[in-house]
Amino acid sequence: MSASISSAETPFLDRFRLTGRTALVTGGARGIGLVTCEALTQAGAGIILADRDGEAAKSAAGGLREKGYDVTAETLDVTDPAAVEALADKHANVDILVNNAGIARSNIPAERMSDDEWSSVVDVNLNGLFWCCRAFGKRMLERGAGTIVNVGSMSGIIVNRPQEQAQYNASKAAVHQLTKSLAAEWAPRGVRVNAVAPTYIETEMTAYVYEDENLMRHWIGGTPQGRMGRPDEIAAVILFLASDAASLMTGSIVLADGGYTCW
Ligand code: NDP
Repeated sequence: MSASISSAETPFLDRFRLTGRTALVTGGARGIGLVTCEALTQAGAGIILADRDGEAAKSAAGGLREKGYDVTAETLDVTDPAAVEALADKHANVDILVNNAGIARSNIPAERMSDDEWSSVVDVNLNGLFWCCRAFGKRMLERGAGTIVNVGSMSGIIVNRPQEQAQYNASKAAVHQLTKSLAAEWAPRGVRVNAVAPTYIETEMTAYVYEDENLMRHWIGGTPQGRMGRPDEIAAVILFLASDAASLMTGSIVLADGGYTCW
């Protein structure tokens, strides 16, 4: 099943089905990652829900299993390349990799940013994402099939305001360019690599906005749709990109931004 790509005769809705495939989602214990696990498993995939907080991963996976889904929990800190390699060895059959783990540190003017405030964000968002692409991608290439969806951000395209977060923005722009680079290298060998670039999404990462009217005014006022996004609205894009419905897509950075980048 993993190597199969829909043909011209495949009914359109069937192209979204992931039956028989195995998907690994990093940072899957909450937020966009958790809802993505649910989206992919509803489409038929078996899920490996990985998070650096092993207990949170177990509890999130347990919640999905109670709903009848096929979900296994794993502890994975994506910044540890040896741990990433070991998990890729353990689950050498991963067909779909969703690189969702990411952190943000905002309201830090660049001239006052500490070494750690810079490095910690780049280490998770860019380095960790690359370790996962390298480890799981290598095994996909050996099998001649697989798809990777990276969670980038509109911050890789525009500069958010008013909060300063140069390191986050730079890390996400790098994720987009890494996505294109890997897509070009791996397309001839059957592996697709795409990214979704979300606007502000209602998760713990952005919860601080509700205490800041000025921030809220900028974020909502700067969005033609006049609202933040929900995690399920990003999970739906990830499901599409992971599925054969997107068989012609590789190296795409798909904006899901409520129109934010139109203005
Ligand atoms: P959350 O903070 O809600 O969830 C992120 C998850 O990733 C947490 O479970 C977190 O664990 C985990 N994680 C963090 N660091 C690591 C690591 N080193 N290894 C493994 N897991 C880790 O974030 P969101 O759901 O909001 O964000 C998910 C992705 O979407 C991120 O890449 C983010 O940059 C991106 N994004 C989010 C937007 C938003 O507005 N929310 C907008 C655009 C992009 P822990 O609890 O230990 O931190």
